[in-house]
Amino acid sequence: MNKLKNENDSTPELTSYSRDFYEPVYTIGVAASKLGVSVHTLRLYETEGLIITYKTPTGRRLYSDLELEKVKCIKKMIQEEGLNFEGIRRLLAFVPCFKLRECSSKLGTLCKAYKISTKPCWATEEKCLDPYPSCRDCPVYKKIVSCEDVEKLVYSSFCKS
Ligand code: SF4
Repeated sequence: MNKLKNENDSTPELTSYSRDFYEPVYTIGVAASKLGVSVHTLRLYETEGLIITYKTPTGRRLYSDLELEKVKCIKKMIQEEGLNFEGIRRLLAFVPCFKLRECSSKLGTLCKAYKISTKPCWATEEKCLDPYPSCRDCPVYKKIVSCEDVEKLVYSSFCKS
């Protein structure tokens, strides 16, 4: 499927958050307890490419409210929609990252990371043409917060506004 077919669509309105929302402040134990999941689950979501954990210079994992909201959405997709990790990755791959990055459509056409349809660009080995030092700081990762965001963004890939 040509994901760039409707490249002139406008980007949907998404909620803005304060800087604090993106600050990695929760240890893995605190994050797991706030979410009602196990530490193992958080590590699994990370290795499956669904979240990007902040790592301190000593290798300690920290999570922000962004990751907490993302995990809530992942849980919902699994429990309510019956998706598995593969399905979630494929769904996230439809998010039009070139719109969120405001890349030119030409750049979007050339970007190998965007063309991968099996996983979101941050989880691919292919490098995007204009990468952030860490995908965790990239608008593409930061703007996908809730399941509503995923729905709006994926919808915008297919429908003209
Ligand atoms: S910097 Fe990372 S998340 Fe952002 S568009 Fe490139 S690959 Fe995707």
